[in-house]
Amino acid sequence: MKIFCVGRNYAAHASELGNEIPDEPVIFMKPKSALLQQHTPFYYPEFTNELHYEAELVLRISKNGKYIQEKFAGKYYDAITTGIDFTARDIQNELKAKGLPWEKAKAWDNSAVIGKWVPVADIKNKKDISFGLYKNKEMVQKGSSALMLHNFDSIVSYISNFFSVNIGDVIFTGTPAGVGEVVVGDELEGFMEEASMFRLEIK
Ligand code: ZN
Repeated sequence: MKIFCVGRNYAAHASELGNEIPDEPVIFMKPKSALLQQHTPFYYPEFTNELHYEAELVLRISKNGKYIQEKFAGKYYDAITTGIDFTARDIQNELKAKGLPWEKAKAWDNSAVIGKWVPVADIKNKKDISFGLYKNKEMVQKGSSALMLHNFDSIVSYISNFFSVNIGDVIFTGTPAGVGEVVVGDELEGFMEEASMFRLEIK
């Protein structure tokens, strides 16, 4: 299983972190060990002092493929949910400043949270899926797939030019504006189209 992530896929989020808006999708990966298993508590990692949430729509790959044309890419994922790409922002800023890879900031154990899957067939319009994140019952992020710079099909197609995609792989499709810090005791709840997808407490 592979976990792909897209960076800077919403213009407003790219500018809040002072990043340029890229022409091509920014792709990075997390290992399988990054996946927070259900019913496992989430612990604040000891190596960071600035843990950020990034709420994102996540795709589930349902068909093996490589060099997938964009017009067929919709056949390669069958479910969508909301997830969190947890980021050690202090470490990421250090690594970025030195031009080094991001893994220590993004790919650590349990840094990928995935909500319950909703079949694509049950989604009214995948080009405009609203989603959001609440922290301690207050909305902190709100987005829609309509605001993505690269849509689901173009992301799947793009990734498949470099990596085979396989059944069970997942793709985090980028975070909208509003990323921020969490501390121990905070509760996060992710929504998609008004329905709760996951809830977790920072331990
Ligand atoms: Zn992200």
